Amino acid sequence: MNEEIKPGIYRHFKGNNYKVLYLAKNSETLEQVVVYQALYGDNGIWVRPASMWNETVELNGRKVKRFTFVGQEPVSFSKIKSFQVDHDKLKKGVYISRTDGDIVTYDVRFKVPNCGDYIPSAAMHTIEHLLATYLRNSEYGQSVIYVGPMGCRTGFYVLMKDNVGGNEVIGVLKRAMKFISDFEGKIPGSEKSECGNYLEHDLVKARENALDMYRVLEKYTPEMLNYER
Ligand SMILES: [Zn+2]
Repeated sequence: MNEEIKPGIYRHFKGNNYKVLYLAKNSETLEQVVVYQALYGDNGIWVRPASMWNETVELNGRKVKRFTFVGQEPVSFSKIKSFQVDHDKLKKGVYISRTDGDIVTYDVRFKVPNCGDYIPSAAMHTIEHLLATYLRNSEYGQSVIYVGPMGCRTGFYVLMKDNVGGNEVIGVLKRAMKFISDFEGKIPGSEKSECGNYLEHDLVKARENALDMYRVLEKYTPEMLNYER
């Protein structure tokens, strides 16, 4: 029995979950194989050489485990990936939370979770308008899929195509934070006809929060994008 592969649920680096059913031996070669089942779609059953199970693969220029052990029992609701992040250990920063095909989700975390300090709603709203405007008008505008607030008011989700590298994402977010922290004048898209709550904006607090995030990003490197570091 391979000690490093225990039965249970594993998350593939592309985001899907699988259940390891057995470790088995190929009768012809005596090679050890993992028998596992997809926990999505048609729940297909697969085998893969055990030697490949714990390999690392390259994803967006960083090394990640092909399969990560999630737990022993299947949960009735598969936990969405952002809830699997240990929020007790998070620091301010930018993190890749998931990859779906060629779309990468970046969590832009302005605040340490559960520390009593959150971005005020009106400032969140203003940052959302300015951040989306900046990113969509940047040189990577064609690769921006989505920009939106986290409901916990600790940060934003930015979804980008993977043709933009980690270093470039950090760079453009840093410039976006500078843009917001220096912004004066009329907030883009804040006419009554353009926005769902046009009176609820706070540029002063938006600028403060963006400046704080800018300082975090000043020393940021692509290695820091990984949650499991
Ligand atoms: Zn709005």
